[in-house]
Amino acid sequence: MFVCDDSLITFWKRNGPPRSLAGREGRCSVRREAPVVMVGSDAVEVDRRLRSGELACPCGGYLAPWGHARQRHVRGVGVLRPRRGRCGICAVTHVLLAVPCLLRRADGVDVIGAALRAKASGVGHRPIAAVLGRPTSTVRGWLRAFGGNVEKTRSVFMTLLVQFDPLTAVMPVPASPFAEAVEVIGACAAAARRRLGVVGAVSPWQLASAVTAGLLLTPAGRG
Ligand SMILES: [Zn+2]
Repeated sequence: MFVCDDSLITFWKRNGPPRSLAGREGRCSVRREAPVVMVGSDAVEVDRRLRSGELACPCGGYLAPWGHARQRHVRGVGVLRPRRGRCGICAVTHVLLAVPCLLRRADGVDVIGAALRAKASGVGHRPIAAVLGRPTSTVRGWLRAFGGNVEKTRSVFMTLLVQFDPLTAVMPVPASPFAEAVEVIGACAAAARRRLGVVGAVSPWQLASAVTAGLLLTPAGRG
């Protein structure tokens, strides 16, 4: 698709990630399984980078090709068969998750993000579900998951926003913590485009997926 998603991931790793949504160690992790490694959505480019030793393990080692994860259909994205990479140092295998996806979610992050933005504007979960063509229970689950984590989400993205643009003006106070968290994610994406000089760029929600290692909807401390 473009290289900016990889550039963006590289940026925040090089500059030190903000506090994770899911851990206290400053990096995103998932209990009981290895953390995913976020990659761009161009499968050919991901494969090239994997074979070239350009993809890093969270431990600092480099990943080598290690088969594929199971094939899955992600609504709004398509059928995916993510690559796996194995670290030459810690020997842990990682799923390479593309930024349009969230961990353990059957819908793409842009679809979920549209629901979050609508909720931030005051729309209820039933009309959101009707517009998106998703089950009401599914949409309610997204909104509850995000809503249960808004303080930490806002904090993470505000930290990143300052890294991208230290002169960012104070934003108007939105109507709720939920809306504020959504607003900060959008502002962060806009600042990333300015800082990285990317045209077209990742969507705000793909940025959110990259920054949280796919855990945007995963409550803090749960994997
Ligand atoms: Zn490693």
